[in-house]
Amino acid sequence: MREMEAVIGLEIHIELQTGTKIFCGCSTAFGAAPNTQVCPVCLGLPGHKPVLNQKAVEYHTRAALALNCEIVPYTTFDRKNYFYADLPKGYQISQYFHPMGVNGHVDVNLNGETRRIGIRQIHLEEDTGKLLHPGEITDSPYSLVDFNRAGVPLVEIVTQPDVRNAEEARLFLQKLRSIIRYVGVSDCKMEEGSMRCDANVSVRPSDSVEFGQKTELKNMNSFRAVARGIEYEIARQTELVRGGEPVVPETRHWDEARGITRVMRTKYLATDYRCFPDPNVPPLECDPEWVARIRQSLPEPPDARYARLVHDHGLPAYDAEVITASRAMADFYEQTVDLFNEPKTVSNWLMGEVSRCLNAAGKELEETALAPQQLAGLLQLVQKGVISGKIAKEVFEDVFQTGRDPETIVKEKGLVQIADEDELGAVVDRVITANPKVAEDFRGGKERALGFLVGQVMKETRGKANPQLVNELLRQRLRN
Ligand code: ADP
Ligand code: ZN
Ligand code: MG
Repeated sequence: MREMEAVIGLEIHIELQTGTKIFCGCSTAFGAAPNTQVCPVCLGLPGHKPVLNQKAVEYHTRAALALNCEIVPYTTFDRKNYFYADLPKGYQISQYFHPMGVNGHVDVNLNGETRRIGIRQIHLEEDTGKLLHPGEITDSPYSLVDFNRAGVPLVEIVTQPDVRNAEEARLFLQKLRSIIRYVGVSDCKMEEGSMRCDANVSVRPSDSVEFGQKTELKNMNSFRAVARGIEYEIARQTELVRGGEPVVPETRHWDEARGITRVMRTKYLATDYRCFPDPNVPPLECDPEWVARIRQSLPEPPDARYARLVHDHGLPAYDAEVITASRAMADFYEQTVDLFNEPKTVSNWLMGEVSRCLNAAGKELEETALAPQQLAGLLQLVQKGVISGKIAKEVFEDVFQTGRDPETIVKEKGLVQIADEDELGAVVDRVITANPKVAEDFRGGKERALGFLVGQVMKETRGKANPQLVNELLRQRLRN
């Protein structure tokens, strides 16, 4: 059988967090009651006059530069005409003729190998409204429409067909989200729809230079769904091609519950959107100096930061990757290291306890009140021997929940480590007396028996004993 390979290109829509919509002053906040964030402009009522939101252009430019795109200085805002119930004006305003960002790329790390995914273009456009079908949210027997989302600024990012498998697609999307969040233009929440991805998938014999016929996948609401959808589609097409059947050009819907894709619409003929520049929105020319100022204002990108943490801080590649994936995490890490200069210890805590508590609370670091001063303070208490590493975890849990100062918690709960020889010695003696058989095993050369005794002392002191001292005292006493 001939070896087959997949070819994948992604189209991603990301909502820009501009506060107000792209052509009017309506709020873009997510989750408001339906049709409460609308006006004549975003409803396309007769006589409406769109006025371009400068911040949307700025955010587009930030995103385009972060994706290594060239900025096209001249653009028009073009009407893309089609009829659909969620499109109040009967057209969407988009940059059809002159996408403002082109020829970019994103590097993805797959199994230690860097794969470069080309960005064909990134352009600015407006979002549509949202249909609520029977059974969704209301119990209406009809489909209802919510126009709160109509006119929210979007960037659409189109990749080159450079992706070769589902895992690479998932890694690309995660990297893309990280980059866009770094430059602060969107929260990229797939579950809330502020980041949405369509995947174009085709297969071909591995030795072929031509692409196969593609299908387009829609409705994947998580990174996992994108990967599953692509995997399913590759398998489906591979089977068709091997059986000598044609792949039909169509748009397919990913059914998350059933784990399959099925046909939404067939597209033998390209839709004619009859695009033309919107006569109500003048063409835009961006001043190169303005673009240069935006470039200046961008934060250090995740790739550069990753390299710095590996080379200057001596972090392992894995740690640096996890920490720089989110700007909030990377900022938190660096601020903590400024106060407590042990990079690997700080990294261990961020990837361990901090992440565990965040996951349990279902929160992002930036949504909590946790401060670098608190983590650094806690680590200093451990370093000074005031508390043990085990107790530190307990204290951290409290800091995380209550936002209180670690030192206060330690004092209040009486968690100060027992490092007093007499006090610990008494406990050690009791433990040895209570476990004569284990003590004998150790004396007989069974080194592992000591671990059990240390454990018992820890248990008696509720984790407060200084572990080194416990070890010393046990050995000292068992030698005699
Ligand atoms: P269309 O004309 O159908 O809109 P485009 O050429 O505009 O197709 O490409 C849309 C997206 O599909 C891009 O992300 C592109 O990389 C991807 N793409 C194009 N051809 C293929 C193919 N044969 N297989 C997979 N993806 C493809
Ligand atoms: Zn409006
Ligand atoms: Mg196209």
